[in-house]
Amino acid sequence: MPGLEDLYREIILDHYRTPRNRGELPTPPAVVAQGHNPLCGDEISVFLEVGDGVVSDVKVGGQGCSISQSSASMMSQAIKGRSVDEVRALVRRFKGMMSIEDVGDNEPGTDGVQLGDLEALQGVVKFPVRIKCATLAWNTLLEALEQANETAAS
Ligand code: ZN
Repeated sequence: MPGLEDLYREIILDHYRTPRNRGELPTPPAVVAQGHNPLCGDEISVFLEVGDGVVSDVKVGGQGCSISQSSASMMSQAIKGRSVDEVRALVRRFKGMMSIEDVGDNEPGTDGVQLGDLEALQGVVKFPVRIKCATLAWNTLLEALEQANETAAS
């Protein structure tokens, strides 16, 4: 499909230049997780506020390459206002898309999960060294979800 890669590049650059949900949240009530990708020098902070099983707010900080930062921006946009269960399904769906084995559409429990702009990152799979850039925000998000879970339980 001609032009699709250009479109994807545009979406990635748009999120890189104009990152969504950039900033910090007060902790507590929010939790924060830090992620680091030493291969590329990418850094991501994910501030997450969870209430009644819903991600009520999210902010992202950090610096790094366009793939890592645009993935974080898209992630923040995709999870805000979603239930924790939906967010976990989205993480599985995204990491499925990013896996070289391409289990994407067959990941259990991810039917009907819409990736939206995140589809733009699927071309990254062709460049294995960049996959860690794309998944950094998502692994950091999982850590933040764990923290939010522990905070809720205590
Ligand atoms: Zn990177």
